[in-house]
Amino acid sequence: MAYNNAEQLEEFRLETRKWLEANCPPSMRTPMVDDEVVWGGRNATFKNPDSKLWLDRMAEKGWTAPEWPKEYGGGGLSRAEARVLEQEMRRIKARAPLFSFGLWMFGPALLEFGNHEQKLRFIPDIVKGKIRWCQGYSEPGAGSDLAGLQTRCEDKGDHYLINGQKVWTSYADKADWIFCLVRTDTSTKHEGISFILFDMKSPGVEARPIQLISGESPFCETFFTDVKVPKDQLVGRLNGGWEIAKRLLQFERSSISSSGFGGTGSLSPEEYAKQLIGTDESGRLLDGDLRGRLADHRMYAKAFALTVQRQTEQAKAGQAVGHTASILKYGAAKMNQDRHELLIEALGTEGLGWAGEGFDKGALRVTRQWLRSKGNSIEGGTSEINLNVIAKRVLGLKDHQ
Ligand SMILES: Cc1cc2nc3c(=O)[nH]c(=O)nc-3n(C[C@H](O)[C@H](O)[C@H](O)COP(=O)(O)OP(=O)(O)OC[C@H]3O[C@@H](n4cnc5c(N)ncnc54)[C@H](O)[C@@H]3O)c2cc1C
Repeated sequence: MAYNNAEQLEEFRLETRKWLEANCPPSMRTPMVDDEVVWGGRNATFKNPDSKLWLDRMAEKGWTAPEWPKEYGGGGLSRAEARVLEQEMRRIKARAPLFSFGLWMFGPALLEFGNHEQKLRFIPDIVKGKIRWCQGYSEPGAGSDLAGLQTRCEDKGDHYLINGQKVWTSYADKADWIFCLVRTDTSTKHEGISFILFDMKSPGVEARPIQLISGESPFCETFFTDVKVPKDQLVGRLNGGWEIAKRLLQFERSSISSSGFGGTGSLSPEEYAKQLIGTDESGRLLDGDLRGRLADHRMYAKAFALTVQRQTEQAKAGQAVGHTASILKYGAAKMNQDRHELLIEALGTEGLGWAGEGFDKGALRVTRQWLRSKGNSIEGGTSEINLNVIAKRVLGLKDHQ
């Protein structure tokens, strides 16, 4: 049933509230910490069994992807209904049941460019969190200049054969499948790229984790040696992959900006500053300079959230995401990095910890997130590249000669 008018929406709200009250486990109504983030996939592990229960219940209703078509396992909700669901989840502080490149990037692109069989095959497993996807875009010689990618894909009659290397492939060692950009024509640049999908268990695929200074390995070098891919796993037309690639980047940039890089469970800079620096008799932070900058940041964050909300509404009302995604991605990166600078400043010496008992757990998490936030202006297209897109595609400026 579609709920269109105010009365029907109110009915939907009450039903949703009742359902959430009955089905969202109490432990899923608490702030999430990094190591409890649910990414799903064949090898998914759940630290807290309630995470699985919550994911399964939400997926059953299609509410991990509330607005995707019911035909492919989505919730089939209208924008207005999805907003009610968001509000009701926020009301009880419900966690997002699933974090997934499938939900944020690949699924929306497949719904737009895939054929019916591909959607039936792949979309329901994204909604249920059964298959975890990774993104095979960047190569050692092709990051900002993505269209310079060299991974070869040859037509061998009854299958494609892939040889080449990707890099910075986030979680390639944990993902089940990859959506990948490959070169199918070497005589031309953008028009020689195709968009293809394959199982990371295919013979010839090797993901080597890149060890960071933190000891973590969030991304991999990914090698393909004579990887055979069935022909029905090509999305769109042969050599038509660049259009899909760009669209998917818009979904990526747009989802990054609406999640604000999805920081998990730390106190706000104001809360830390008040705790550690102290307040005057009227409750104001003692450090006047920091107070002013915190206020500036809060105003920026509020204006940014409203802009994202407006853009989301426009997108849902049928106005394409488009190049405004670059504005928002740029703004979100700046905002998240500023926020972490303020957090570290507010923490003072508490922010110098790396591990061990001597530091508060929340402060240790902030220090690591501060370092992680440095990547925000690189991932999903660097800030410089997004500024180029804004200059050319939004403002219509010409290249400087
Ligand atoms: C946390 C994180 C996760 C990532 N996950 C993935 C992933 O899952 N899959 C994937 O495929 N990739 C991933 N990437 C890679 C990311 O997309 C690239 O790092 C990014 O596109 C930049 O490419 P590059 O590293 O080759 O830098 P380069 O393109 O070599 O750029 C180097 C510097 O030069 C600047 N520059 C380059 N060209 C221009 C220009 N024309 N004008 C002005 N400045 C320019 C850039 O802004 C940058 O500062 C991830 C990166 C990070 C940090």
